[in-house]
Amino acid sequence: MNVCELCPRRCRADRFRVDGRPGFCGAGDKVRIFRWGPHFGEEPPITGERGSGCIFFSRCTMKCLYCQNSPWSWRGEGQDKSVGELAAIMRDLALKDRIENWNLVSPTPYLPFIREAAASLRGEGIVLPFVWNSSGFERVETLEEYAELCDWALFDLRYSSDETAVKVSASQGYVAAARSAVKWAWNRRPDRLIVRLLVLPGHADEAIENLAWLATEVSSEVPVSIMSQFTPAYKALNTPPFDRCVTEEEYESVVEAADDFGFNNGWTQGFGAADPKLALLGENMSPDHGTVA
Ligand code: SF4
Repeated sequence: MNVCELCPRRCRADRFRVDGRPGFCGAGDKVRIFRWGPHFGEEPPITGERGSGCIFFSRCTMKCLYCQNSPWSWRGEGQDKSVGELAAIMRDLALKDRIENWNLVSPTPYLPFIREAAASLRGEGIVLPFVWNSSGFERVETLEEYAELCDWALFDLRYSSDETAVKVSASQGYVAAARSAVKWAWNRRPDRLIVRLLVLPGHADEAIENLAWLATEVSSEVPVSIMSQFTPAYKALNTPPFDRCVTEEEYESVVEAADDFGFNNGWTQGFGAADPKLALLGENMSPDHGTVA
């Protein structure tokens, strides 16, 4: 690969050469990883019994002003790893931690390296499902090319307005990109897609618009995970309305809309818990019912 066009920015940086320039996202010629380990807070099919083996990649193709992971997503903190070192991390997660899957958190700039690491592990007989854990800002061409790394698609639908996506995440074309990614995943493996809707302060209407789109253009059978956990961080601390948490009214308006649109497959987080657990969406729409995670 001479220049990088992995994400919708298609910035064409020659970042894969040793003396090349980094891409818009900051990624260069090595995999950069902030941390890794078993994680038990994902949706139940992803967490399973033994936890999901999360690998948090540094850098990000989006620039969300509220990002809670800004030390590594914006500032690139982490360690450069060779493909062999990445394979060693994945091997340890599989054999020592015995996790359910490899959960690639924002992997897009590093897909060629991940593929190489996976191939070497396959040669050793180490195979696990991959979770492609993404903001949704993806190119279908890239998803298609690296489909072997997407046994599970855990995709966000963050905005329904490109104006917001540009203002808040500097991501032109987000809506079409994320919706195309969701459609791609649904058409490929409908039993292996979860769509996350992070309710944003002052923008609950966009989550509702995305639910309406999902119900009409894809299916209300899509499992949705409606998230209340937004907490002001990074540049959001000085950018209203992102300088506050989501109100209960905002969150419940999205949960009610999911009910109205016929979604009964998925999870809610409840509201106001310090460590919100996921609860089944559907028969019980209140935050008080039993948790499953
Ligand atoms: S993944 Fe990074 S380097 Fe590649 S096109 Fe996107 S922003 Fe540019």
